[in-house]
Amino acid sequence: MSDIIKLLSDSVANQIAAGEVVQRPSSVVKELVENSLDAGATSIDVIIKDAGRTLIQVVDNGFGMSPTDARMSFERHATSKISKAEDLFAITTMGFRGEALASIAAVAEVELVTRRADDELGTCINIAASKVKSQEPVAAAVGTNFKVRNLFFNIPARRKFLKSDKVEYKHIVDEIHRIVLTNPSVAFKVVFDNEIKYQLLPENIHQRIANVFGKKLNQNLVPIGVETQIVNIKGFVAKPEMSQKNTSEQFFFVNNRYMYHPYFRKAVTSAYDKLLPEGENPRFFIYLEVDPSTIDINIHPTKTEIKFEGEQAIYMILNSAVKEALGKFNVVPTLSFEEDITRDAHFTSTTVVRPPVISVNPSFNPFKYTDSGHKRDVPKSWGQMYDVNTGKARDDFDLPESENPQNEANALSIQSHIEYENDENYSGDSNQKYLQLKNKYILTSSHSGMIVINQRRAHERIMYEHFMRMLETSSGVVQKSLFPLVIELSPEERGLLIEVMTELNTIGFEIVMVGNDKFEIRGVPAELAEMDANAIICQLFEELSEGSSDVKLLLNDKIAISLAKSAAMSSGVALKDEEMENLFFRLMSCSNHNYTADGRKIMEIVDISEIESKFN
Ligand code: ADP
Ligand code: MG
Repeated sequence: MSDIIKLLSDSVANQIAAGEVVQRPSSVVKELVENSLDAGATSIDVIIKDAGRTLIQVVDNGFGMSPTDARMSFERHATSKISKAEDLFAITTMGFRGEALASIAAVAEVELVTRRADDELGTCINIAASKVKSQEPVAAAVGTNFKVRNLFFNIPARRKFLKSDKVEYKHIVDEIHRIVLTNPSVAFKVVFDNEIKYQLLPENIHQRIANVFGKKLNQNLVPIGVETQIVNIKGFVAKPEMSQKNTSEQFFFVNNRYMYHPYFRKAVTSAYDKLLPEGENPRFFIYLEVDPSTIDINIHPTKTEIKFEGEQAIYMILNSAVKEALGKFNVVPTLSFEEDITRDAHFTSTTVVRPPVISVNPSFNPFKYTDSGHKRDVPKSWGQMYDVNTGKARDDFDLPESENPQNEANALSIQSHIEYENDENYSGDSNQKYLQLKNKYILTSSHSGMIVINQRRAHERIMYEHFMRMLETSSGVVQKSLFPLVIELSPEERGLLIEVMTELNTIGFEIVMVGNDKFEIRGVPAELAEMDANAIICQLFEELSEGSSDVKLLLNDKIAISLAKSAAMSSGVALKDEEMENLFFRLMSCSNHNYTADGRKIMEIVDISEIESKFN
C-alpha cells in the first residue's frame, strides 16, 4: 500500500492560512497599511471601492522593495522582520509572521508596484490566486503601491459571506481609526468610492482625534496621564455628555498597538459610575505603555487581545487615573458650557459656574476637591458664598415658595452676593430670561443655544447634594413633629431601618425604637417637614433594598438619593421667574448639574445650529 500523507501545495496552504489572516476587506487594509508603516512611510493613501470588494489600494512613500524582495514578499513565511524565534517577543513592527501578502495573494488579484530610492526602475508584479502572472520593470514612484482586486474571487463561499457594504465599510473605518490614532505623525488620505473620507496631515494625537472624530468631541476631551512602575498611561477620556450608545469609540492601545481589553474597559467605564445613564458608553482614547516582556500579544490570532502581567493593579491605576482626570477638569460643568455662561452678557465673571467645595461622598462621585491640586479649580464657589452669606452650612435648599418670606430672602441674598462677588462685571440686573414649559421644563438661553432643564430632576440633584452635605457634616436641623408617628415594621424592614438610623438622625430625623419592631418618628429634617413621613420611609426602604445590586453605592448615597426624591418638587409645579432663576443658580452650583445622582439626565443644551437648521 502506498503512503497517503502528502504535503499540501503552497497555494492550498496559503488559502488555509488566508482564512485566518484575511477575514474580510478590513483585514487586507490593516495588513497593507501596517506593512507601509513598517516600511517607514510618512504618507499613506488608502483607496477603497465597493467596500473593498472591487478594490483595496494602499500607496505609500516607504522604502520600497528590490525586484527580488518584491517577488519574495508573496512567499509564505517571507518576512524581513524576524529571523529567530526570540524576535517574536520584542516586536516593534506590526506584522511579524510573514503571512499577510501570501494570504492576500491566495484569495485575490494583486498588483504590486514598488521602487527603492536607489533603483532607477521599479518592479511590477501581478499575481492571482497565488500564481504569478507577470513580473516586469516599470517606471514608478519611490515606495510601494498595492492594488488588491476582487477579493475572494476564487472562493465564492467567502465572497458571499461578506456583509453589506455598510458593515464592511464600518470594519474598514474601525481598522483605519486604530491605525491613524497610533500614527499621528503619518499623513493619511482615505478615499471611499471616489470620495475623500479622511485627509490627515502629520499632527499630534490631540489634533488627530479632532480631525478624525470632530471638533465637538475634541472640545470635550479630558487628558489623562499617570506614570507608575508597571504602566504609563496617557490619552484622553471624553466627558460624560459625549457618551454614545455604541462602543466604537473606545480605544485602548498598548505600546502603540490597538488592543481589545474588556477588563480594562470596565476599569474606565466604572470610573464614570453614575455619570452616564443606562446603555450609554463613554468614549476614550487610552494609550498604555508597559515593558513588552510583561505582555503576551499572541493569545488571539487577530492579535487584538492581549494578556498582561498584573492586570488587577493596572485596573486600579487606570480606574483612578480616569476618575482623577474627570474630577480634575470638573467634568461638570462642561468646558463648553462654562464658556457659554461666562461669555454671556451678564455672566462675565468666571466665578459663577463652580461647584461647591464641600463635595459629595468620594466613593459615589470621583469629582471631589479634597486634593489640594484641584482646589484652584473652585475659587469663590457658590457653596462658599452660601456659607459666608448665611454663616452656616446651607440649610435653605428648599425651593422658595413665594409665600415663604425666608425663602424669598434667601433668593435675594444669592442675588446680592453674586453682585458682590463679581461687582466689576456683573450688571447688577439679571437679563437672563426663564420660561417654563408644561410646568415641567425650564428653558433659558446660553451663548451657544438653548438650555432645557428638567425641573424635578434639577431639584432632586440639588437636594441630593444638600443631604450628602448634611450627612457628612452632621448638620441636620430637626423639625419636631406635633404628632409623632409610630410605624410597625417587618423583621426585614426593621433591619434596614436600624442600619440607617444613625445616619437619619444626624440629618434631622428623630427616630426612636419604642418596641421590638415599633419605631416612633418624632421629627424629620426641616426640608421634609411638609411631607408624609411614612412615604419618606417607604421610599427609603425601596432605595435601600433595590440598591443591593449596585454595591458601589454607599449607604450615604442611598439615603441622600432617596430623601432627595422625597423632597424634590413633583413635576407639574408652576414656577415664578425668581424661582426658576433660583433653581437654575442652585443647579449650577452643584458638583454635577447634568445628571441626577442615579444617572438620569437633568439638562440638555440645544445648539443654535440645530435650531437654525430647522429654518433652512
Ligand atoms: P510581514 O509583514 O509579517 O513581514 P508580509 O507578508 O506582510 O509579512 O510582508 C512580507 C514582506 O514584504 C515584509 O517583511 C516586507 O519586507 C515586505 N513588504 C511588504 N509590504 C511592504 C511595503 N509596503 N514596503 C516595503 N516592503 C514591504
Ligand atoms: Mg505584514
